[in-house]
Amino acid sequence: MLEFIIVCVAALVLALVFVAPLRRAVISNPLLALYRRILPDMSQTEREAIDAGSVWWDGDLFSGRPDWDKLLAVPAPRLSPEEQAFVDGPCEELCAMCDDWEITHERQDLPPQVWQYMKDKGFLGMIIPKKYGGLEFSALAHSAVVMKLATRSNAAAVSVMVPNSLGPAELLLHYGTEEQKNHYLPRLAKGLEIPCFALTSPEAGSDAAAIPDFAVVCRGMHQGKEVLGMRVTWDKRYITLGPLATLLGLAFRLYDPERLLGGEEDLGITCALVPTSHPGVEIGRRHLPLNAVFQNGPNSGKDVFMPLEWIIGGREYAGKGWMMLMGCLAAGRSISLPASSVGGAKAMARYTGAYARVRSQFKTPIGRLEGVEDALGRIAANCYLMDATRVMTAGAVDAGEKPAVISAIAKYHMTERVRKVIDDAMDIHGGKGICLGPNNWIGRGYQVVPVGITVEGANILTRSLIIFGQGAIRCHPYVLREMRAAKEMRGAEASREFDAALFAHVGHTLGNGVRAFVHALTGSAFAPAPARAAPETRRYYKDLSRISAAFAFAADVSMLVLGGSLKRKEKISARLGDVLSAMYLASTALKRYEDQGRRREDLPLLEHSLQGVLYQAQQALDAIIANFPSRLAALKLRAVLFPLGKRFAPPSDRLNHQCAQLLLAPGEARDRLTAGMYLARADADPTANLEAALVATIACEPIERKLRDAVKRGVIAPRAGDDAAALARDLGAISADEYAQWQSKEALRRDVIKVDDFEQDFGRAEIMRELAKEMPAAKAA
Ligand SMILES: Cc1cc2nc3c(=O)[nH]c(=O)nc-3n(C[C@H](O)[C@H](O)[C@H](O)COP(=O)(O)OP(=O)(O)OC[C@H]3O[C@@H](n4cnc5c(N)ncnc54)[C@H](O)[C@@H]3O)c2cc1C
Repeated sequence: MLEFIIVCVAALVLALVFVAPLRRAVISNPLLALYRRILPDMSQTEREAIDAGSVWWDGDLFSGRPDWDKLLAVPAPRLSPEEQAFVDGPCEELCAMCDDWEITHERQDLPPQVWQYMKDKGFLGMIIPKKYGGLEFSALAHSAVVMKLATRSNAAAVSVMVPNSLGPAELLLHYGTEEQKNHYLPRLAKGLEIPCFALTSPEAGSDAAAIPDFAVVCRGMHQGKEVLGMRVTWDKRYITLGPLATLLGLAFRLYDPERLLGGEEDLGITCALVPTSHPGVEIGRRHLPLNAVFQNGPNSGKDVFMPLEWIIGGREYAGKGWMMLMGCLAAGRSISLPASSVGGAKAMARYTGAYARVRSQFKTPIGRLEGVEDALGRIAANCYLMDATRVMTAGAVDAGEKPAVISAIAKYHMTERVRKVIDDAMDIHGGKGICLGPNNWIGRGYQVVPVGITVEGANILTRSLIIFGQGAIRCHPYVLREMRAAKEMRGAEASREFDAALFAHVGHTLGNGVRAFVHALTGSAFAPAPARAAPETRRYYKDLSRISAAFAFAADVSMLVLGGSLKRKEKISARLGDVLSAMYLASTALKRYEDQGRRREDLPLLEHSLQGVLYQAQQALDAIIANFPSRLAALKLRAVLFPLGKRFAPPSDRLNHQCAQLLLAPGEARDRLTAGMYLARADADPTANLEAALVATIACEPIERKLRDAVKRGVIAPRAGDDAAALARDLGAISADEYAQWQSKEALRRDVIKVDDFEQDFGRAEIMRELAKEMPAAKAA
């Protein structure tokens, strides 16, 4: 009897699984009806944001089975000879022209000759094709230029970044009419127009689609003729380059109450290009974003009439502004902020390592004190990982991707990691980093870090909503299909599509669960790794394959258990995003190691980076389970993902020591780590002196040992105020040449450790007098 029941149940289950019409009737259709009820409605702007861009390596990571061979087959991104010449020529020259103290304190702006140089050499038109007079650079070259500038002057980097990222040029290239392109692009390429893009308003920051700025379609007079146009009212703030801009890219919601365009009344967000000389445009005042001094300010207008032809793309693109912005952001976010963050990290790595060797306390270079070493090792490893991410992500854009999720990962993690790097660097510099002045190479960087955190999608929002939220829909192999079947299809078509996606989804989830469990039990021993990868890195590929399966399983369980409420469970989705991000960052580091020819000296940097992100991924999964709203599901998740507990540990002290060592002395690995940053050559430049002091300090270490030995043996007994080296020379403990070498090292060392002091007004009165003298000359010019 029992056998009969078992056979019947098995037959029923098999019939339900394999007889499609039965399966649909009994399982898929009721689930489809339920899914339709619980699936939250998406606004048009949410749909456009989710649809924007493309899915690339993130799709593999989301699948639970990343195809590592595919990743390693991607050619290593390289600059063309022309691009390299630009980075080594005009970009190097521009860096040399920038004196950051003059810019940030004295002028609180870039000097006129710097602006002119940027315009003349085409810095403002790097993304504009040659046929319009631009440089037509790759994303990698654009990134290399911004990175290098950021190692010298944040104001210069941002002023170059903005015209080349989301703004008038980018929007015109993708959506502009021929007439608009032919008119504006050559002018933008040559810097005859200074562009800005104004989306943010006081009431709408992160929720930018809610801008209250609006326009009403109407007839009006333009250049002496009556034309169809719009009356625009706006109030924007935080607009970079706004105070100087001659061309204002403006986003507003367009209404057509009289249906003059023959369509809807609420047409939606629309982008237009407005000459700032146009009557009614209020522009020119400045904000002061944490002393960063790049031009940034509010602008506004009330009932300003402008022709419909000013809409980017013309009338056809009325109401398509959000789609345009999201499409451009998907690629643009991959470049500017990652590049400037990596620039900051490279500068901090090089300067902090040198400072930690030159500066001694307790008769020891501070970089050799374990506590300082800890921070220094982190800086080095972060820098390695960040640059790997910058290069691979820019390479993806050059390969034609608009990687929406990856660009959010790159933006979020590069700006967060540079914040950690600068915090560590500040701690190591102590008071030297705190007292601002021409001799402080770190304080301004520390001040401006929050700007990158806030712009192009503020970081808390990016982590909590975008990385996993968009990833779950775009990168997941089945979720979008299920959603489309539920929301966009009807009848038999919807039933068939939903059924196919659902059952493939179930198989996918179960497969990932089994893989995650087996890999966890076996220490990833049987997880896939590419045969062509360096043997010393194979175990990391295997661990990442395990994490990918665990992540995919956890993501599916979260979606199944939490459904639409996952959108509001930001703490859960942020942690899922952390796991996805960790896998992406690790992939870029592994790719870099291969692309750079498996440099053994870089292995500590690679391993520190990988162990760090694997540990973070594990901790994020653990925190998801610990905080999962359903305890039963949490118990099952833990049993599948961590049957033997957590086995990834943070990077060891040994690795940390090896990474720190790379920064404490000149060497190939240090040069490779900081490649592409600006290295000042002028003797008077504090960072050039720092580099010279590092070399001199190392060269003088044998002399230092002789001096110590002389004191220990009682050959010399220097008292407070004595020149111990002179005593040692006089008593033959060191030679005259050694004494001279010691003296010049000491001069450099004193120069490195000195900090600036000022009159009570920090020199402002004198500065204002000097600038006033320049004014008549500038006006005449
Ligand atoms: C120096 C600077 C330059 C800028 N340049 C430009 C420019 O050129 N053009 C332009 O249009 N705009 C520009 N911006 C605006 C920038 O994009 C916005 O500041 C940004 O969108 C955030 O808006 P907000 O500052 O009003 O912060 P808010 O939106 O008030 O956010 C405050 C905090 O809440 C968090 N938050 C908001 N919503 C969520 C959510 N759903 N879940 C979790 N956390 C959330 C945010 O992450 C943030 O931490 C600039 C801003 C600055 C400071």
